[in-house]
Formats: sequence, C-alpha cells, structure tokens
Amino acid sequence: MLTETEAHRNPLSELQVMQLLHPDAKESLQEAAQKDPGLPRTSPTWSTWLRSLPEHFSTKHGPRPLPDAADIVIVGSGFSGASTAYHLLCELQYPGKVVMIEARDACSGATGRNGGHMTAPNYRDFLMDVERYAHRMAVEDGRVEPTEADREIAVRMTVETRRFDDEGVKANIAFAKEHNIDCGYRQGENVQVYDTPEVYAIGQKHFQAAQKAGLTGARWLSKEEMKRVLGTTEYAAADAVPGAHMFPAKFVWYLLDQAIASGLELHTHTPVIDVNNGVVTTKDGSVVTAKHVVFATNAWTSHLVPELRGHIIPLRDQVITVPRTDSATEPVLPSGGLWMSNGSEYAIELSNGGRLIMGGFYEESGRHQAGNANDAELIPGVSTDLREALVSVPPLQKFPYDKPASPEIHEWTGIIAVSNDSAPYVGKLERLSSDKYSAWIVAGHNGEGMPRCFLFGKYIAQKLAQSFGMHVADPIAIPRAMKPNPHRVSNLDYFAWNLE
Ligand SMILES: Cc1cc2nc3c(=O)[nH]c(=O)nc-3n(C[C@H](O)[C@H](O)[C@H](O)COP(=O)(O)OP(=O)(O)OC[C@H]3O[C@@H](n4cnc5c(N)ncnc54)[C@H](O)[C@@H]3O)c2cc1C
Repeated sequence: MLTETEAHRNPLSELQVMQLLHPDAKESLQEAAQKDPGLPRTSPTWSTWLRSLPEHFSTKHGPRPLPDAADIVIVGSGFSGASTAYHLLCELQYPGKVVMIEARDACSGATGRNGGHMTAPNYRDFLMDVERYAHRMAVEDGRVEPTEADREIAVRMTVETRRFDDEGVKANIAFAKEHNIDCGYRQGENVQVYDTPEVYAIGQKHFQAAQKAGLTGARWLSKEEMKRVLGTTEYAAADAVPGAHMFPAKFVWYLLDQAIASGLELHTHTPVIDVNNGVVTTKDGSVVTAKHVVFATNAWTSHLVPELRGHIIPLRDQVITVPRTDSATEPVLPSGGLWMSNGSEYAIELSNGGRLIMGGFYEESGRHQAGNANDAELIPGVSTDLREALVSVPPLQKFPYDKPASPEIHEWTGIIAVSNDSAPYVGKLERLSSDKYSAWIVAGHNGEGMPRCFLFGKYIAQKLAQSFGMHVADPIAIPRAMKPNPHRVSNLDYFAWNLE
C-alpha cells in the first residue's frame, strides 16, 4: 500500500490520494463519487457551535408559506449563501425579492459544524495544485500530458488561488472587527508540523516552488521555537504561516440577521427537492419561480444538479471538542491553529470559552468517508483516533482538560464537499441557464471554505446585481481555477487521469 507521503508526491486530487491510500476500496470510491448525496439528514449530530443557535431562526423563519415568485432564490444558508445574501442586500442594496431556502436550521451544514480554522494554505501542496491545473488544461485541450507552457500558466493560477485565500482571511477578520461580531476570532500564526524527514523534504519542495513563484508569508521554525511553541522538538520540522480561527456560525448568523433586516426572506426546515429552469420545488410541494437560483448547497449540490455527480462529492468528517479546565487565558496552542498530516488534521483553541477543537483523521479510521453524507451519526473508528490524538500529539498534551475520558468531550460529524479537481465551483452554470433564467453555483470547497466563502458570496452577489443592470463599484475577481467553465463541468476525466 502507498504511504501518505508517496501519495502526496503525485499530482492527484484529494479523492485520488484517498483512493491510493485505500487500494481495496478502489471500486467503491469511484462508485461513492457518483452517489446521490440526497437531502441533508433531518436529525444531524449537534455541534458545539449549533448549541448557540439563536431561537428566532427556528421560531420566526421555520416552515411557512413561500411566495409564488422571487427575483433570486438562494438554496442553502451556510457561509456561501449567507455571504451572497448579505452582500446583495446590505452592501449593494439590491431592491428586488430575495428568498433563501434552507433544509434544516440556519447554518447547520458544514459551516455550522466545521473546525473554525481559517488559515490560507500558502505553500502547502503548491506543486500538486500546479500539476492538477496543468492536467486540467491538457484535458480541456484534448491532450493527455501537460506541456511546460501549461505548467507555467498553472503556476500563475496556483499563486492566484493562494493569494485569494489569503485575502479572504483578511476580509473575514476585517469584517468581524468592523462590525464588532462576537465570533471569538483570533489571528496569529498557524503552525504545521512534519512528522518525518521524508514529508519535510516534500514540504520543502512545495515551499521552494511557492517562494520562486513569488508567494511569501511562510517560514520554518527553529528547534528552539518549536520547543517553545509546540513543547517538543520531536518533529522533523515545523513551519508557520499567517493563521486565524473563529466561531463560524456566529459570523454567519450575523450576516443572515443583517440580510433579513434588509429584506431577505429566510425559510428554514424547507428542503428543496427540485430546481428546473427557475422553478424551485420544496418537499411539501410548494413552488417558487425565480429568475436566478444560487446553489449554495455545497456537499449536497449534486442532489439538485445531477450532472455534477462525480464533480462535487460529499465526504464525512468528524470534530471533537473539550473544554479547558484551568482558569488561565493565555493560549496553549499556536495562536492561529495547528496543522498535522499535511493539513488533513487540525486543532484550534477558542479565544472565548477556552475550548480545544480538533478535526480530521478520516483516513486513519481504515474506511474512507467519500460519498457519505450522513452527518446524523458519529464514526466510531474516528472517535477512537481523535481521543487518542488528544493524549498522544505532543502540542495537544499541553492543553489542560480532564484526561482521558472527560464527560465534557463532545463530538459531531459534518459533510465536506470534495471536488474532482480540488478547486471549488464558483460562478454561473451556463449549461443550466437560458436567456430568461440563470443558475449560479458556489460549492465544492474541499474542506477549506472558511478563508473563501465570504468573498465567494460577495462575487456572486456582484454578478447577480450586474445582471439586473446595477453598477458595482469595486468588482472582485475569482481565480481562474475556480470558475465552472463548461469544459470543467462536463469533463470527468480530471477524476480519471493518473489512476493506474
Ligand atoms: C467537519 C468539518 C470540518 C471542517 N473544518 C474546516 C475548517 O476548520 N476550516 C475550513 O476552512 N473549512 C472547514 N470545513 C469546510 C467548511 O466548513 C466549508 O467549506 C464551508 O462551511 C462551506 O460553506 P457553504 O455555505 O458553502 O456550505 P454549507 O455550510 O454546507 O451550507 C450548505 C447548506 O445548504 C443546505 N442545503 C443543502 N441541500 C439543500 C436542499 N436540497 N434544500 C435546502 N437546503 C439545502 C444545507 O442544509 C446547508 O445548510 C469543514 C467542514 C466540515 C464538514
């Protein structure tokens, strides 16, 4: 079996890495990618964030009659949908009718159950993205192998996405500060640890390539610094990049409240079962007709847009949290968070309330979680891995809590949306649109939506406003890699290449 190190040497999508790590599951992974995620589960596990859900979202905005028509229907009330609504109604002051339809509670998808970590990847996997984008260009051009010219463009595309993520984190923090949002954000440095000299050597290659391409902001920690920040020198290496975290749902509930005050009509507990040419049908048989529909449905998108099966794939992930037992307020973990195993495992320490939040570990459980959209159940093997990590990962050992089986430990699952080529889909779905109706998508964030969704929503809002003839003073650009161009939407070869 390939080790994770070997897998990360190849220019593979996350799903392909997983496939290589689980060779016995090869068939089931490809089948899993094609599975209908269905509607969001009705009784999901309850995250620590969602325990603070303001009551009015359920009582005032719960199931109620829908209007017959709207200018814009946004399906999904997570970070992407909420940011779209906020920017449209509050920033651009769009005067038309905007309806948001959410299957469950407000912000109860990935945003309401994620790890709260908000760190741009900087140089991490830089060369992998370059190869992914270069292969994409080759496939789009009917070729099997990319040329050096493809790779040069792919380097620029990768730098563009990394800078966009960085800007996204800054925009989130600036907004939280300006609006005084009580979301416990903390900004500082995120530390990534390298377990072995082999993974460190790979990391150095990504680092050097990124630096050569002009990306700055990352640095290696000295052994003394490692000892001070992580409490150990047993790692082969560690780096620091600008990092941040926050209580994600509080930020999003703020956006929703502001949008509602500016005219958004929110309908929670109202699953959408079909969208056809602007006709939106909900589970209770109600129908709303819209000029524009925004699919802010992330992991569940391909239930409503079946042609995206195999493009946007649900992946179940799990999070654990434990409260701090001493009264000190100085953080024990690095201020911007901690990445382990190339970012697929992470931990943050909340600034308000003193909690450790840790997530990931879905590959170690011995079973892949691709194609699984069931956030109503925990994954027993992952629960074991997460609890073990609490006591065995050196920097986490510094966190004071009732070990090893604190009754305060709380876990939940959530559904990440992995995309076939590891880039999100953000923009207009031309193939579903006509001269009377437009379909928009903002989904497939590959477990890294926190730095991005705010600006994605702003971009979609600006595009919508422009389509109604409104002037947009400061249009933002989306990185080329993330646009849902027709080639990308129709071409599943991105998933198939390089599997032998
Ligand atoms: C466990 C976990 C941990 C994560 N940790 C991090 C992290 O630390 N850092 C990071 O950057 N990212 C993380 N992510 C990813 C991040 O949470 C997402 O990228 C981001 O929240 C996506 O926001 P969204 O609004 O696009 O999607 P979501 O928040 O998933 O919102 C989609 C919404 O659409 C609704 N919906 C779907 N289908 C329908 C339908 N048919 N009808 C009506 N409503 C529908 C859903 O109920 C949901 O509320 C994590 C994700 C998970 C699951």
